[in-house]
Amino acid sequence: MDITQFEHQYDHLARDVGAFKRAISNKLMYTVGKDPVSALPQDWLHAVSYAVRDHLVERWMKTTRAQYAQDVKRVYYLSMEFLIGRTFSNAILALELMPTIRQALSELDVNVDTDKLFDLEPDAALGNGGLGRLAACFLDSMATLGVPGFGYGIRYDYGMFRQMIVDGRQVEAPDYWLTKGNPWEFPRPEVQFRVRFGGQLEQHGETVRWVGTDDVLAMAYDTIIPGYGTEATNTLRLWSAKATEEMNLRAFNQGNYFGAVEGKNHSENVSRVLYPDDSTPSGRELRLRQEYFFVSASLQDLVRRYLRTHTGFDALPDKVSVHMNDTHPVLAIPELMRLLVDEHRVPWLKAWQLCQKVFSYTNHTLMHEALETWPVEMFARVLPRHLRIIFDINAHFLGDVSAQHGHQPELMRKLSLIDESGERRVRMAYLAVVASHSINGVSALHSELMKESIFADFAQLWPERFNNKTNGVTPRRWLAQANPGLATLLDQRLGRGWRRQLDQLEGLKHALDLPGFLGAVRKVKRQNKERLARLVLQQLGVDLNPDALFDVQVKRIHEYKRQLLNVLHVITRYQRILANPDAQWVPRVVVFAGKAASAYHQAKLIIKLINDVATTVNNDPRVGGRLKVVFIPNYSVSLAEVIIPAADLSEQISTAGTEASGTGNMKFALNGALTIGTLDGANVEMREQVGAENFFIFGNTTPQVAELRAQGYQPRMYYESNPELRATLDAIRNGVFSPSEPARFQAIFDTLVNWGDHYLLLADYADYIATQDRVDTLYRNADEWSRKAVLNIAGMGTFSSDRTIAEYAHDIWHSKPVLLPVSHAAG
Ligand SMILES: *Cc1c(COP(=O)(O)O)cnc(C)c1O
Repeated sequence: MDITQFEHQYDHLARDVGAFKRAISNKLMYTVGKDPVSALPQDWLHAVSYAVRDHLVERWMKTTRAQYAQDVKRVYYLSMEFLIGRTFSNAILALELMPTIRQALSELDVNVDTDKLFDLEPDAALGNGGLGRLAACFLDSMATLGVPGFGYGIRYDYGMFRQMIVDGRQVEAPDYWLTKGNPWEFPRPEVQFRVRFGGQLEQHGETVRWVGTDDVLAMAYDTIIPGYGTEATNTLRLWSAKATEEMNLRAFNQGNYFGAVEGKNHSENVSRVLYPDDSTPSGRELRLRQEYFFVSASLQDLVRRYLRTHTGFDALPDKVSVHMNDTHPVLAIPELMRLLVDEHRVPWLKAWQLCQKVFSYTNHTLMHEALETWPVEMFARVLPRHLRIIFDINAHFLGDVSAQHGHQPELMRKLSLIDESGERRVRMAYLAVVASHSINGVSALHSELMKESIFADFAQLWPERFNNKTNGVTPRRWLAQANPGLATLLDQRLGRGWRRQLDQLEGLKHALDLPGFLGAVRKVKRQNKERLARLVLQQLGVDLNPDALFDVQVKRIHEYKRQLLNVLHVITRYQRILANPDAQWVPRVVVFAGKAASAYHQAKLIIKLINDVATTVNNDPRVGGRLKVVFIPNYSVSLAEVIIPAADLSEQISTAGTEASGTGNMKFALNGALTIGTLDGANVEMREQVGAENFFIFGNTTPQVAELRAQGYQPRMYYESNPELRATLDAIRNGVFSPSEPARFQAIFDTLVNWGDHYLLLADYADYIATQDRVDTLYRNADEWSRKAVLNIAGMGTFSSDRTIAEYAHDIWHSKPVLLPVSHAAG
């Protein structure tokens, strides 16, 4: 079915408002159990959700049946995080039902505005940031391309914490996203797997038995992932921990009811919370248990599914791909070995060959502190069988290396899966590399650096395994849904095909000189800025001028992302305005949002500084509205959908060589923001695509950063030689923004000036400020600015996650789309 037929079909459906009204009323009464007279807005939301969901279920079954009939190769995407956001509007978009639903709701006696109803849905925030959001974009693209993909992860009771800002500081509150029920998930009590922990090993001849374990059950919850412009749908299966029967019975028979509850809670804790940190291993045993919990259930599930239609494991690599999103799911490797060798009696070498064909791995960071390792001692206690398997894998691997390259103890030490320097630890990234046929980075630059740094020795051994897959974002959520104004404009100029063929955006180049086009683009941006200004006024009581340049940095708060460099610019600008009040300033609104990991003190201090600077600047009458600073609390997917379309300028200013790719950068450019950024991550490729003249690049490059560090970087030198920088840093240190506690930000000053400035902010400061001046100059010329904004949109075709997933499917997974029979409903 091509896209025109598809849209025709849903035009037809779209007219069927009456049927939807009946469906919604039925769901309200018989599923939600409410009388329309007394139904709360929440009840209506659930009723409409169920009505919409029914349409997805039909497609879901059709897709599943076709997958079995065609015996397709299935792709299992294992990820600790899926940052999905809201499902309702996404589902309506996939089904092209927005006008129908709006009409149906307006004709029913619902006393709530439809958009307010949408806003009642909590975000599914089962992730920290970019890595989890990438997984969500990939699910969308796999479904859209018909790749038979399954997401596997954890159904955390508590997702990413809710961030409140109290007196300028981050305060964390639990995100209990499930309290009001989740109409999108299907509980599957019949799908449960036993996951074992602890115990001992017994050797019986050749075979090892793992006994005396403490067990927990993993129960499946399924969510439908609709494709866009296709009937193909996929499944996200999330696991929730349940106490075993014997756990419940044991304590119950002892008459110890509270003991029973405690034991039950202990085992169910494994799916309780998402770790509020994506860049440092928590070092906590519970995290290791979480990782094993979800990969064990997922592997048992996929092996069972495979064996339903196959005997023996010879065909496994033709029918199954298991992709590991970073190292968190790497225990899948020893788990598959255990299932094959211990439970299905496959000989070791045969099992290992199967593993190497099945597994592939994406690396997401080169930062040393973020590379996962686990103490051997803890591993032995929690997963003794898996530790033994890893030791065996290591022995075989190092044996092979010696056989090929001679006995080189130094090389062995470097390659070993066990780090023997100090406390012995298991290197999860190395295990992933040894077991995978494909190892990819997430931008061209990052993939190169990965081969030169953390995996240098492995890249020498197996150059053919390493490749790049530059990240992308789904244009459905990040353009069609987040920016309806721009989407309508694109539809008028290009037709509707860009939603599935994002390269079509290139056609915008021909629209540049059409009369009125740049003005129309500007008008949409202006409306999006007004929408954000309303949100800020309502949440923060700060009045923003929509004519000002909206300068936006929203992402996790981390030193390497350098929100602090942005703050240095804000302070410099503030001081310049005070020194030169009569100059013609381009008014600016600087927007920040982002969460800091709860234990990351420096990041939290940066949040406090941003808020203190905001208070000072926003309340200084001498500034007269030429500069406003806001920190919008609780950054999330839904908030991003409002903030990003309103940006004129996108801040992507990480130290070169630290941001693996970034995807925020892509969302902004796709929505017509210009980027100010370093040559880091995917910024490099974005600049190539949109043209260097349409991109504000500044700062040291990766080789220059290395060079600076090698020479013995002296940040104090910059402080002493640049008077503006000095005045800016002195203001922070002297309490200009914290008069009640002048020493509050001493540590920030020291980090930059006295403690080595690890992320080289001071080395990039002067160029950053000069580049910000060029931004102002361009913004004064509204047509030139809009022209460049359009060229940014036009150049973003390649950054669709559809392109990324097509590359994964072709190069790594070797999977083919499922073929669906043409629906008879069509036409
Ligand atoms: C896209 C996105 C991110 C990643 O942003 P980066 O700028 O690439 O770090 C993080 N959080 C949310 C909610 C997002 O939508």
